[in-house]
Parts: sequence; structure tokens; C-alpha cells
Amino acid sequence: MTHSPDEPTERGDRATSPSDIRGWLFDLDGVLTPTAIVHMHAWARLFTPYLELHGAAPYTEADYFAHIDGKPRYDGVRSLLESRGIRIAEGDASDAPELDTVHGLGNRKNVAFNETLADEGVVPYPASVAFLDAVQAAGCPVAVVSSSKNAPAVLAAAGLADRFEVVVDGGYAAAEGLPGKPAPDTYERAAELLGLPTTVCAVVEDAESGVQAGAAGDFGLVVGVDRGVGRGALERLGADVVVDELDELLPGLETVAPLPPQPVEGGTA
Ligand SMILES: [Mg+2]
Repeated sequence: MTHSPDEPTERGDRATSPSDIRGWLFDLDGVLTPTAIVHMHAWARLFTPYLELHGAAPYTEADYFAHIDGKPRYDGVRSLLESRGIRIAEGDASDAPELDTVHGLGNRKNVAFNETLADEGVVPYPASVAFLDAVQAAGCPVAVVSSSKNAPAVLAAAGLADRFEVVVDGGYAAAEGLPGKPAPDTYERAAELLGLPTTVCAVVEDAESGVQAGAAGDFGLVVGVDRGVGRGALERLGADVVVDELDELLPGLETVAPLPPQPVEGGTA
């Protein structure tokens, strides 16, 4: 749903203000951690030796932006190889990382990602950690909702794994048959796992598809974090508030009332 800035939004019984929110649902990559840097380094780790071995022009950072950024992994591999005139078999997703196929190289990139994460770690955005500290101090439960199957490894490398009892990641969504973003289902499931109605939960996202997922559900608040998509675009897609850094929301949290005791249902919390 889209709405012009001067029209009131259909809010129903949505919470609408950060101080009314009881549960916070965070995207991971780009919201809590600058994971794009790890991906960039992993692509270099894959293609630097590969192109050298094939006598092709060396891999550069410009290749990442020209051929890889924003594409699904196998499409990125195919596009980079085309730029060097290298033609190899497609293979399929079950190919071992050692195989010189498009899918084998894509799977090798995932190995390179985990190696890069282990070697370099990833430092979470300080403002996001400050915000997480504040909402957790206020007694609000928190969840991570990420399309990535690497989310647990990224959370661990960032030192954030202990913060989240609920992580709805790519592996969980696949196992449960949940459609990914821009569908709202993974965020809705996270709210359910926290034991809260969606109307008192906030979705915090930096990507177009993620803000769309928040807007498609009946969430109390959709926060857009502008890491490059742009304030106007995030608002048009359904963000109620857009920030450059999450600590901009801290003043709005000062009035958060302590959580009343929550009924325990089924012991999943
Ligand atoms: Mg993201």
C-alpha cells in the first residue's frame, strides 16, 4: 500500500510511536551489521585467485559494483564471468564448492564468506547496538528476521548472538515453508515467537523488500534505516519513520512504560 505524505495513514489500532512498541523485529544485514563489507571481501577472496588462474584481467572493487552488487549469488558469478569472456557450465545448486561451474563458484563464494567472517569478524553499527541496549533495558523482547542463511554466523561474529532468543533466518523460513520478504510472513512469525501481537511490534529494515514486508503486515511501526536506498523511496514503500542511524529514535523511547508481566503460553518464549 502506498500513501502520499499529506494523507493520514490507515493506522487502525497500530502502536504508531516508538514508546508504544513492545517488541522490536530487526533485519540483520545493513540494520545491525555492515555485512555488505564482508560480502565484498568474500567476492574478492573468490575471484582474485580464480581470474589470475585463468589469465583474465584482475578482480577489482569496481567489478563488485558493476557485476555483482544486488544480484542473487549465482547471477553475480555469471555476470562477472561474462565480463571476462569466461564461459563455464551452469551446473546446479548441489555442486560442490570445488567444481568450476557457475553454481560451484557460487557455493565457493559462500565458503569464502564464512572464511572472511571468521578472519575479519564484523563490527555492528554502534548506534544500532546503543538502540538495542535501550530497548532491551526497557524490557522489550527483540528478534532478528533475515533472509540470509548465514544470519547465525553473522550474529556470532558480531558478538550479538546472545541478544536474540528468536532468529527467523533463511534456513528457518525454508524449513517452515514461509515466503520471504517482501511477504510479511517471516516478520509475523517472529512476533508470534515473541508472544506479541504484530500491532505492538516494530519492523526495522534498510532494504526495499524489507520495508515492503513491514508495510504488508499489521505492524505497529515500520522503521526504515537509510543505508543508501534513500529516504523518499523508503517512505513511499511504507516506512512510518526513516532514520540514518537507529540512535535517532532513542529520545522517543524515554517514555516507554515497563512491560506488564506476560502470560507464558506453551513455553516457547
Ligand atoms: Mg538488510
